Amino acid sequence: MSTVVINARGEQRVRSGHPWVYRADVIDVDAAGGDVVGVIGPRRRQVGHALFSDRSQIPVRMLARGDGPFDGTLIRSRLERALAYRETLGLDATAVRLVHGEADLLPSLVVDRYGDHLVVQALSQGMDRLLPGVVGMLDELLRPAGILARNDPKVRTLEGLPQTVEVLAGSVPETVVVREGPIEYEVDLRRGQKTGLFLDQRENREAAARYARGRLLDGFSYHGGFALRLARQCEQVEAVEVSADAVSRIRVNAERNGVTNLEAREANVFDELRRLEREGARFDTVVLDPPAFARNKASVEGALAGYKEINLRAMRLLSPGGHLVTCSCSYNVGETLFAQVLHEASIDSHVPVAIVEKRTQGRDHPVLVGVPETHYLKCFILRRVE
Ligand code: SAH
Repeated sequence: MSTVVINARGEQRVRSGHPWVYRADVIDVDAAGGDVVGVIGPRRRQVGHALFSDRSQIPVRMLARGDGPFDGTLIRSRLERALAYRETLGLDATAVRLVHGEADLLPSLVVDRYGDHLVVQALSQGMDRLLPGVVGMLDELLRPAGILARNDPKVRTLEGLPQTVEVLAGSVPETVVVREGPIEYEVDLRRGQKTGLFLDQRENREAAARYARGRLLDGFSYHGGFALRLARQCEQVEAVEVSADAVSRIRVNAERNGVTNLEAREANVFDELRRLEREGARFDTVVLDPPAFARNKASVEGALAGYKEINLRAMRLLSPGGHLVTCSCSYNVGETLFAQVLHEASIDSHVPVAIVEKRTQGRDHPVLVGVPETHYLKCFILRRVE
């Protein structure tokens, strides 16, 4: 079997529960990119088995620990366990994340269900090599109408893998219709962001429904996830989104759901917040769900300035007693740092706010203890106190 030897620091990292070993901690390689390898420690003891990449900064992604032989049925049993867990959640939705990579002990694999269809992503050389087998197992376990590979994320280029979108089993129509709670969405699985929708916000949309009322501003709306879910309990809804494609989806989705009090605008949220402030506009509910401003450590400072700006302007727009649902999906901006930015925004805007709820991604996107990279989404619900 192919092998990779790691140093003491790499071994320590694996022992502390993290599945990744960085390039600097790999001492010796007798393997080809994409192999399942035996991982050997500095004292020549076997640490476990892993996926190997010859191009990535993360050459080793652990699949199993210990000195036993590699169990060929491991991937299947992990898949079965991931699916069984989602069953137990009793989610009121037909679009659900079934496999969340590292957190399901299936590193760099994503599987999302959209009704009768599945979307998969393999984000490392090793998982890319295993994908045909994984697709066969999913086909057998779930009998979907079609399986689409959205293997177009940029991270694949770091692995030297091509960016492709292809149907791997059955057939996949131009759009599929899924339901999340009371709302139906029409989704383009081939061209939508992520795998089509932002499934990780489902429970935060539900939580926001506990507070939303009056005039609502949904900033960074994408297909109107928050706006549509909250429209029925609000008087007037304004959704702001920079992508023209997404704005037309918001309108199609509003019509599909009989939502008539929603206006979708194609605009930059930064400009729109300034304009509304100049107008002296007031909102009872504001949602901010921007894309990750900090995609790496180098961009954290700029990202913090961005988060602060949109949050302080949103606070100024809030009417007393109103709520701000504010999110960050930058892994590099942790919860404490995000809370600090919100504190600064509150001071600079002279708007006192209380934290009503501190939330994270939905339960179908679990966080694995000891692997901070699996905790990326922060969602604070704030109330303007006066
Ligand atoms: N809230 C959405 C997900 C938002 S994802 C949901 O619940 O489904 C972030 C969105 O912000 C993307 O659709 C992206 O196109 C949009 N976006 C990025 N920068 C923007 C900007 N400066 N102004 C407005 N929208 C922006």
